[in-house]
Amino acid sequence: MNIVWDFDGTILPLTPHDSEQSLLSCIVKEMHPHVLNLKGLLTRAIIYADMKGWIGHYFKPLYLWAAKGTKEDIIERVTEELAGRISMEDRNTLKALQRAGHKQVLISCGTENLSRAVLHKSGILKCFSDVVANRFIFKDHVISGIEYRTLKPADKLNAVISMGFNPEDTIVVGDGPTDIPLLNWSVFPVVIRRNNNEKAGSSGCRYSIISEIADIIPYVKGIYRGNLKFTQNP
Ligand SMILES: [Mg+2]
Repeated sequence: MNIVWDFDGTILPLTPHDSEQSLLSCIVKEMHPHVLNLKGLLTRAIIYADMKGWIGHYFKPLYLWAAKGTKEDIIERVTEELAGRISMEDRNTLKALQRAGHKQVLISCGTENLSRAVLHKSGILKCFSDVVANRFIFKDHVISGIEYRTLKPADKLNAVISMGFNPEDTIVVGDGPTDIPLLNWSVFPVVIRRNNNEKAGSSGCRYSIISEIADIIPYVKGIYRGNLKFTQNP
């Protein structure tokens, strides 16, 4: 099977900050504390509005405005902390899926520099044959722009289709609105709801619900037992 993973909220638990909000939060923390800082106040407002889901994909230009001019080594510091959120059990699950021959890709509307570095520091980057998200552009080791590859939810679906994946042999795992086009496309849509006491099962709609990454192992086994017609490759 192919397995398409979302990053923020799916592979990376929220604290409640996602990886981009964590980067902005770190930028604010590292600003000079004794200066009345308008940019700091506005950046906090951007983080809050994004956490509330008020600004959708309009977040990205604001995010870039706030991050622009920041030295690239901040990514090392932020992703070190973010990698600590991924449990050993989750890492082992992703490794086991790779060993079993499943092709895993990570497609995110977030920032590739963050997701890639987190996966690397967690020792699981090699579990993914591709990582597709938006990329920072650096000039003289400073963030100067962003290359949009997956700005909108539909861009994630287009990325998966361009990989040659088919809905019949692709599991999609996501947690939020940016995953909806992909979830609706796949024959095997899975939504992760962390801190959910319900066991894996149906949400009442077509999506299967899991409460932790490890639940994907019995889910895959269930596909092989019950829907062999869908399994064209391992
Ligand atoms: Mg997400």
